[in-house]
Amino acid sequence: MITKVFKPGWKSEGVGARVKRAIGITELRDLDPFLMLDMFHVRLPAGFPDHPHRGFETVTYMLEGTVHHEDFKGHAGVIGPGDIQWMTAGKGIVHAEMPGSKDHDSIGFQLWINLPSSKKMMAPRYQEIKKNDLPVYQDDTIKVVVISGKYKNIESVIKPESEAHFYDVHLQSKGVFEHKVPEGWNALVFPYSENDLEVNGKTIQPLHAVVLKGQAEPFRVINTSSSLAKFIVLFGKPLKEPIARQGPFVMNTQDQLWKTYDDYQNGTNGFENADTWTSVIRKMSFESLEDDD
Ligand code: FE
Repeated sequence: MITKVFKPGWKSEGVGARVKRAIGITELRDLDPFLMLDMFHVRLPAGFPDHPHRGFETVTYMLEGTVHHEDFKGHAGVIGPGDIQWMTAGKGIVHAEMPGSKDHDSIGFQLWINLPSSKKMMAPRYQEIKKNDLPVYQDDTIKVVVISGKYKNIESVIKPESEAHFYDVHLQSKGVFEHKVPEGWNALVFPYSENDLEVNGKTIQPLHAVVLKGQAEPFRVINTSSSLAKFIVLFGKPLKEPIARQGPFVMNTQDQLWKTYDDYQNGTNGFENADTWTSVIRKMSFESLEDDD
């Protein structure tokens, strides 16, 4: 059942970066368990220099270009088109995410998924999967990249900390994608190519977010255009816990949020040495990061 359709506008984020935010804005503050969904367009010198996170998972899925990342524990790497970085921030991580080029936009999605209260202070961890290692369902009309969760008999290699399914769907002209979302779960369809789609019989223009609630009947997406359409599908089981969020921290209560700011400022409980650390990629990007194109 469609509950809302809207077009996310541009928003500035990080340092000079532009994002189209579909979750985490006035129209859709959150979509339990999802806290934020951004489609980012960023090129040097803009980016996301050193910043902390606590209490949730951040997922980066690249479409074009690269993102260089590094955290204060020494974990570093580069992700490119089709690659995924699934970071469980848990009790605390400080990292930098910078695009690789000053001439071309790095484009991708960043999704934030909430952690249940019992896992908010877990040790941080990463799951990094290259494009060719992501499981894919494919037939004549459809390709579904299973980033997390399960589609038909194809199961993701990524293990989220909550019940969250994330697909990248490529649908041929006149093709049909049908999927059942468990009753009461939240879902979102976001077409990111320039095609008209039909969702449950309703015409959806490109770059419009479609919010759905799971019900007995599957929801259905038809590509009514004459070319290949691409869209993101998210659905997850609501945590139904209170959310206290500010900037890069998402906890359950305001007290926990204040404690998080204290921990970060004091460099404790997950944020050790955060105050003295400056990422190499941040330093490099000020001089212009070496172009990766
Ligand atoms: Fe981040």
